[in-house]
Amino acid sequence: MIGAALGELERAGIMVLERSRVVRSAPLGPSHRRFANSAALVECSLDPSELLTLLKRVEARFGRRMRGQRWRERVIDLDIVLWSGGCWQDADLIVPHLPFRKRGFVLAPAATIAGAWRDPVTGLTLRQLHARLTRQQGITR
Ligand code: ADP
Ligand code: MG
Repeated sequence: MIGAALGELERAGIMVLERSRVVRSAPLGPSHRRFANSAALVECSLDPSELLTLLKRVEARFGRRMRGQRWRERVIDLDIVLWSGGCWQDADLIVPHLPFRKRGFVLAPAATIAGAWRDPVTGLTLRQLHARLTRQQGITR
């Protein structure tokens, strides 16, 4: 499904430069569902706000398609983690994505495809953020 979502983005004109392997995460919060996570490095001429609009369209399309008839539950979550332009903030969007520094299921795959990319807020690379998190949590995921 992640591959299909990236295919949709490519059809919309987004260039997928790198994609990570899929990492399974333990259920988060009250839900007992497991999630499959992946990071992609993409290039496009859209600004982050326009890209978010496209991501939401793909999310909605997947929700509908996978559930048969009606959009009920989102089956895919597409986030903008980092942007080459640095920081972005508007009413619907904050980049870097606020919780990403605490999420191993984001940092682990992202660090494999863009380990040297620097978070403009902390000044740390994805590799360093991932190492810091695994030290804090004592996990290697
Ligand atoms: P999560 O924060 O875990 O991705 P959601 O996908 O449910 O949770 O977030 C819902 C809203 O978060 C989106 O509708 C979007 O407007 C907003 N948002 C803020 N920053 C971002 C970002 N960097 N990437 C994607 N969505 C974002
Ligand atoms: Mg999201």
